[in-house]
Amino acid sequence: MTDTPRLRVLSLGAGVQSTALLLLAAEGRLPKWDAAIFSDTGWEPQRVYAHLDRLEREVAQPAGIPVYRVCVGGGNAQRISGNLRADSLNPGSFVRMPVFVIDKSGQRPAMVRRQCTEEYKVKPIKAKVRELLGYPHPRPVPADVFAEQAIGISRDEFERAKDAPVRYLRNVHPLLEMDGAADGREGWTRTDCLRYLRSRGWGETPKSACIGCPYHGNRQWRELRDHHPEEWADAVDFDHQLRQTQLRGIKAAPYLHRSLLPLDQAPIDRVSRTEWADRQGDLFDAAADAEAEDGAALGCSPWSCRGEEEMPA
Ligand code: SF4
Repeated sequence: MTDTPRLRVLSLGAGVQSTALLLLAAEGRLPKWDAAIFSDTGWEPQRVYAHLDRLEREVAQPAGIPVYRVCVGGGNAQRISGNLRADSLNPGSFVRMPVFVIDKSGQRPAMVRRQCTEEYKVKPIKAKVRELLGYPHPRPVPADVFAEQAIGISRDEFERAKDAPVRYLRNVHPLLEMDGAADGREGWTRTDCLRYLRSRGWGETPKSACIGCPYHGNRQWRELRDHHPEEWADAVDFDHQLRQTQLRGIKAAPYLHRSLLPLDQAPIDRVSRTEWADRQGDLFDAAADAEAEDGAALGCSPWSCRGEEEMPA
């Protein structure tokens, strides 16, 4: 049994933390990875794809780190096309997003079980790692062959740092061991990552999450409505279509917003407590900390989904 990885990869969600990791490696502050892997649900905002293009062009390529964009395989019996939006509206497929429905008591909203992250993000990464290791499915990966996978978990969310679910992957979390945090402690917080990104000209790093993710909080829905009207219209249309489609595995009417109202009628102008805190302190750190408490606003990472307030349907 060896402890030497055959391969070292970065799980590149393209959000704040994983972007910081890629820049740190490109600067030589972290060892270089053999590959960076981005899982594409097919329904990310355009600015995430633009960010990824720029990252690849300006950071990964000059540093010699290949970026692989992977998506779930299409054409199988489950009618998966690789585009989460399209697949979620396919009458023959199961709902894969954690939409809201009325619970059994008829009183409260409940979320249906989330399958999208596993299907559309985790599985494609695992398949790519196996391919890069030289053991694509169904070839068994020998017990002593594994890849080390770096994941962008910051100190404020350290509880999300977990072992990989398969033997051929071993997770590491380099941000948790970084020096130079603003508070002098070991490990970078999301705020440290944001400050670093700003200092390197990457302060506009977007949150990576599907346009119509039900984990969006009111702040994120307003951001879409007020600043990205095409994406807002796309989400409103998707929300509407969800209820026009007979979806397998779900009986109650599905909604993207917790209020169980159509998205364009939902009370998204209601301001949460953390947002008030954010508004009252205009310092950059205060804003970032308030945002960090608003879990659903942080985007979706393959290995550490940041909106995990799941409830049984
Ligand atoms: S962003 Fe939301 S909808 Fe998209 S994969 Fe993650 S949890 Fe699912």
